[in-house]
Formats: sequence, structure tokens, C-alpha cells
Amino acid sequence: KISVRGLRKSFGANEVLKGLDVEIAEGEVVCVIGPSGSGKSTFLRCLNKLDDITSGTVIVDGFDLTDKTVNLNEVRQHIGMVFQHFNLFPHMTVLQNIMLAPVELKRGSKADARATALKLLERVGLADKADARPAQLSGGQKQRVAIARSLAVNPDIMLFDEATSALDPEMVGEVLQVIRDLAAEGMTMVVVTHEMGFAREVADRVIFMADGLVVEEGTPAELFGNPQHVRTQDFLSKVL
Ligand code: ATP
Ligand code: MG
Repeated sequence: KISVRGLRKSFGANEVLKGLDVEIAEGEVVCVIGPSGSGKSTFLRCLNKLDDITSGTVIVDGFDLTDKTVNLNEVRQHIGMVFQHFNLFPHMTVLQNIMLAPVELKRGSKADARATALKLLERVGLADKADARPAQLSGGQKQRVAIARSLAVNPDIMLFDEATSALDPEMVGEVLQVIRDLAAEGMTMVVVTHEMGFAREVADRVIFMADGLVVEEGTPAELFGNPQHVRTQDFLSKVL
């Protein structure tokens, strides 16, 4: 569960988030759309404190991120994040990449971590790539490994920031399928995407952001089928 109240975020004099109120229930899949520079990535980064919060409150999975004493390492074991660029460790095999965090966190034995990693690889359709190095994989395969790596610590919430936008078009589908499967399994997810078709299909709720504010939100049918605000209508007319 995620509860965001009055979230503001400034970089110097530039206020990028201007008071966001967002509630996300357990198991809900929320897609965030909006023009470039509207604050979508900054919003996601505030949800696991990759960015400091200027004011307001953000409570994620019971952790109050504005509490200075909160243990960020612990928080980040509950919230996985996948970015546009996958940042796998090039000198490690796929399996080693996925096992790294659970082993470092001493989550069970190394054998357990290995078994979990193999299971996750199967889940993302890459069981045969365990011993490959990232350089030997396609972009779509790397991104699926990055998702498996995030899942290895068994997070409750997954955040995706344009996870398919650096991929060649023919690889987008395989990564979206993994995200779709996670949604079907009931994972709580916040997905920043410019894949409107995907948002329409997989989201329980779509949030449209512009200029650091939530302009409009609703079910995909509401937001795409009957947008209420001029900003939303204008944006959708350009991207649909
Ligand atoms: P895009 O669709 O292009 O990814 P976005 O909606 O994700 O855009 P953000 O990356 O959140 O937008 O950026 C929102 C604003 O915050 C932009 O004006 C950007 O220049 C500014 N910004 C983001 N990160 C920083 C930073 N680390 N330092 C200063 N300004 C930043
Ligand atoms: Mg962004």
C-alpha cells in the first residue's frame, strides 16, 4: 500500500512536484502517463527515496519515508524498481546478478538464493540464460533479467519507469508480458509508461500528470475513453 499526501519536491528553485495526493491499494496496478518533464520519474523516485522529499508525507508499505530514522535498505527490500536502463553488472553472469542482493542480505543460504534465481529466470522466460553474461543478451532479455533481479528480494511493490522505452520495438512485447504476468499475480505496481495500449489493458487506474500535478485519474475506460480535462485531451490526442 502506498499513501502520498501533499508531496512536494523542488530542485533548487524549480518546484517539480506541486502537491501530489495518491493512494494505491495493495494489489493495484497504477499506470502514470503525462508529458515529458511533468514529474513522473521524480514521483517514482520519491516512492523509494532515491530523491529526497521536500514536503508532504509518503508512506510505503508501512514505512514513513519522511521519517529520518527509517532504514532505507530495509525499505528498498520491499520496493523493487526497474528503470529504462538495466544496469546489470557486466562481469557477472545472469544468475550471479540475480543472486547478489539476496546473498548480500543473507536471505537464506546461497543454495536457496540460487534456487530462487533459477525459478525467477524461468518466470521471465530465460531459464537457458543463467550462465550468460549481460553482453550476450538482447535488450529485452537484459530488461527481463533486471526485473528478475528486482524480484529476487521478494518485494511487495514494484515500480517501473519507462522500462521498455530504450528497447527496439520487437523486444517491447516480451518485457510487457512479464509486467502483465506480475499484474495478474496481484503485485502492487506503479508503472510509468508511454505505451498507452498497455496502460489501457493492464492498469486498474491511470494517473495523468502534467506540470507536477495529478490532473486527472480514473479507470482506463474513463481516462482514455472520456477524458475530462483539456490537458488530458490534448495529451491523448498527441499520443493515441
Ligand atoms: P520524461 O517523460 O521525459 O521522463 P518525467 O515526467 O519523468 O519526464 P522528471 O524526470 O520527473 O519528468 O523531471 C521533472 C522535472 O524535474 C524536469 O524539469 C527536470 O528537469 C527536473 N529534474 C529531474 N531530476 C532533476 C535533478 N536531479 N536535478 C534537477 N532537476 C531535475
Ligand atoms: Mg521520466
